Order: sequence, then structure tokens, then C-alpha cells
Amino acid sequence: MTTEAVSSLHLQTDLFIGGKFVPSASGKRFTTTNPATAEPIADVAEGDLPDLDQAVAAARQAFESGPWSAMKPRQRGRILMKAAELLLSRADAFGQVETMDNGKPIFEAAKIDMPAAAECLSYFGETADKLYGETHPARPDAMLLTLREPVGVIGAITPWNFPLLQAMWKIAPALALGNTVILKPASATPLTALLFAELLAEAGLPPGAFNVVPGPGAAIGKAMAEHPGIDKISFTGETETGKAILRAAAGTVKRVSMELGGKSPNVVYADADLEAAAKGTINAIFYGKGELCSAGSRLLVEESVHDALMEKVVERAKKMAPGDPLDPKTRLGSLVSEKQRSNVARYVESGKSEGARLVAGGNAASVNGKGAFFEATVFDGVTPQMTIAREEIFGPVLATLTFKGEEEAVAIGNSTIYGLAAAVWSRDIKKALRAARALKSGTVWINAYNFYDPGLPFGGYKQSGFGRERGHHALEEYTQVKSIWVDLT
Ligand code: NDP
Repeated sequence: MTTEAVSSLHLQTDLFIGGKFVPSASGKRFTTTNPATAEPIADVAEGDLPDLDQAVAAARQAFESGPWSAMKPRQRGRILMKAAELLLSRADAFGQVETMDNGKPIFEAAKIDMPAAAECLSYFGETADKLYGETHPARPDAMLLTLREPVGVIGAITPWNFPLLQAMWKIAPALALGNTVILKPASATPLTALLFAELLAEAGLPPGAFNVVPGPGAAIGKAMAEHPGIDKISFTGETETGKAILRAAAGTVKRVSMELGGKSPNVVYADADLEAAAKGTINAIFYGKGELCSAGSRLLVEESVHDALMEKVVERAKKMAPGDPLDPKTRLGSLVSEKQRSNVARYVESGKSEGARLVAGGNAASVNGKGAFFEATVFDGVTPQMTIAREEIFGPVLATLTFKGEEEAVAIGNSTIYGLAAAVWSRDIKKALRAARALKSGTVWINAYNFYDPGLPFGGYKQSGFGRERGHHALEEYTQVKSIWVDLT
């Protein structure tokens, strides 16, 4: 179905609290729009502080004394695996809603994000009864044990770029380990979280274990960080918002984990397979329209292969025309909003005025005369001091820099406040591994970019945050350790 065909859809949805949809106490609602058409797609109940209190009460009750708290871990896992099956079977429908809310290509939403979200659910469903405590053989007169216990009520605050997938990286491990969750989705993209709440209930999740309260971040998100009834905040979003949440959470000494921004280096050595590196570079910056925390937004290319690589990159970028996000052939969708497009356009102007060479794209675009589209944009001749080399643009804009030798590649790669991801392209595995070790970032790909697995942890170094999502490390984020001393005398 194309955007034209579904543009007449207009949905209404309430908050999801205590296992059912409820209107907000204030009766306020807000409208989400399809950024590819600027048409409204849904009226959403807007949560306020009384609604948050209600969600906290429901989540607290489910955690302390509801059926969720009494359920065997294996049964919890089965519910999550059932939800994974349901989500996979509805990937196209969920993907369509995600695409209309966010503007991303349906190919990404339905064929990548939703299956990945389902896989994350089943991965953590399988681990629900496999998080073991320890025994410490330290003393003959006592038995020393540790238990891994859930943290309690988790407040998840999520961004708009991968609305359901990024939420799932929090929801799945938190629920698997017996916590309960209140999710505040980004105001721009609340719909799949609300649909998913209904799906979890269908899979057998008891009331109160998962709640969704959309509403403005500055009010609801801040109140979550301050709320004494919430035990931990798991946040993904902008670094400055992360700092505000840290301050707000300090009053209750809340546990916090944060996945923040990035300015990731994609390093291509002269001995790389340049065809593969060019393809990987395009994927690194234009996947998800570049609205990706891990986007390979700085291409660092060794001087001697600069011309050969750039010819391939520019040729591919020029072919990436923005298209209708609901067309399965589209690979570059609409940015999430007009506001985001203006931010991107400002960065493009700053690149030009600071002396970088624009070699592809650079303009706002439209499809069928509408939408917040932006061309696939490539700058060459960028220096590390330029704004487009330092700041996260969060759009389809690549900054290309050159280097001579390994030392300079790593020095430029690390010259950022961020440290979320990086990649190295080389046929020399020792050289690639030396770089992987030296780059200060939470993920390093070698001869690849933007590959993920629910078992491989993801998170930041430096101002890209702390804590890890996915894998065994995520299990630690949603449990706390209790020590038990048993006297044997
Ligand atoms: P924000 O950090 O502003 O928003 C992320 C989430 O936090 C949203 O749910 C938002 O709610 C909420 N929020 C906003 N202000 C507060 C607050 N004071 N206290 C608690 N929660 C709050 O990011 P945006 O979505 O606006 O995106 C802006 C920039 O963030 C991007 O340009 C990019 O640089 C970065 N970003 C990074 C991501 C990553 O994965 N690392 C993902 C998305 C964005 P609401 O939507 O209602 O404002």
C-alpha cells in the first residue's frame, strides 16, 4: 500500500495503564502526523502527572503483589516468546504504523525493525530463568550466596528514530527478569508502543506489568526521573536530555542507564576492499535516514585511496533518491519532522560556509510534492574543527576527512566527545584489530557497519552514555545483587 492509499486512516488512542486503555485525567490529546505527507494520523491521549501517578501505582502493585510478581520466571519467558511470535506475525502491520509515524522506509520498519524487535523479545524470553546467582566457597562455618533480583519499577524514556525497537531493548530484559515497566515514548512516534501494549496483554502479560504514558518529555519524562515510585530510568536520546535526567534522578538516587548521541568514525584504510567499504559507508550514514545514534557520520579515508573511494561513494549517494516510505523499493524515507529537516539544513549551510566541499545532495526534497525529505548528502574536504565534523547532525549528511597512517586515523577518530560506534575497513586483520582496540567507542565493526544482534551488548563510551543494552550485560542493568550469609555452626 502506498502513502496515498492509506492517508485517509485516522486513529484514536488512549494511554495504556493497568492493562487497559484509559483517557488522560486532563482529557488533553495531541496529534501525530505522517512526516511524509504532513497529514494527521492519530489523536493520542496526552499523559500528565496524575496519569503518571496512576501508572506508577499500577506498576508498583504488579511488581509487589500482582500475578507478575508471583509468576515463575520460565512462565514470564513463555509470555515474552508468545509476544515475539505475535509481533513477527504482525510485522507488516506494525511496520506500516511505524513508517507512517516516523517516515522511515517500510523495508526497514517491516523487514528489519519489527523482526529485530521480535528477536530481542525471544532472546530475553529465553533468558528469563537463566540468570544465576553465585556461591562463594570462602568459609567452612558459613555458606555465602548471591541472588539476582529485579530492580522494581522501570521508567523507560525513548526517542523517535527506532520507536519500537529501541523500546524493546529496554522492555524485553526488564520484563524477563520480573520488573514492571512504564514507557514514555517520544511524542513524535508513540503509536507502535501503544499497539505493542495491547499485544503484550494478548500474549498473557498481567495488568500493570507494562504501561505506556505518552506526553511531553519536559513534563512526563522529567517527572519520571524524579518520581519516588520509579526505581530506575533507562533512557535513549540526546546527550543534553540525558544530563537533565541525571540531575532529576539524583534526588531519589535512582539507578540510571543512558544511550546518547554519537559522531561515529568510519575508517577506511588503503588496503580495504573499496567496493565493500563504499557500500558499507552508504549503509552507515543513510540507513534510517541518518537519524541513527550510531550513524557513521564521519568517513575517515586514507589519503592514497581518497579519490577511488569517493568516486564510488558519491555515485551511490546520488542514486539514493528519497521515495515514498510505504513503497517497498524506497531506501531513503522522510525525516521525522520539518523541525528535524530544518536542523539538518542548518548543518548543511554551516558545512558550506566553513569551507567543506558539497559533492552530493545538500537540498530539501519532496515526494508527490510533500514531506520532510532531504537528499543523501556528502561533504568532502572536511577538517576535524568544522561543526559538521564535531556535532551530531542526525540526518543523511556525511562528512569526509582524510588521514595518513594508523596513528592519525585513530587520533581523528577519537577527537569527539562521543564514543558510541566506529568501523574499520582493512584486509590486514592485525591493523584492523589494533584500531578496534584504540578507538574509544562501545562498538567497533570490522569490514561491516550497522550490524546488530540481541546477544551483543550496545552502549557508549564517553558522552555517548553508560550502561549496556542487549546481551548478558543488559541483564545486569535490570537486576540488583543480594548477598546472603548462612551460618552453618
Ligand atoms: P530527546 O533527548 O529530546 O528525546 C528523547 C526522549 O526523551 C523523548 O521521549 C522525549 O520526549 C524525552 N524527553 C525530552 N526532554 C526530556 C526531559 N527533560 N526529561 C526527560 N525526558 C525528556 O531527543 P529527540 O527525540 O528530541 O531528538 C533530538 C536529538 O536527540 C537528535 O537530533 C539526536 O541528536 C538525539 N537522539 C539520539 C538518539 C540515540 O539513539 N542516541 C535517538 C534519538 C535522538 P518528547 O518526545 O516528548 O520530547
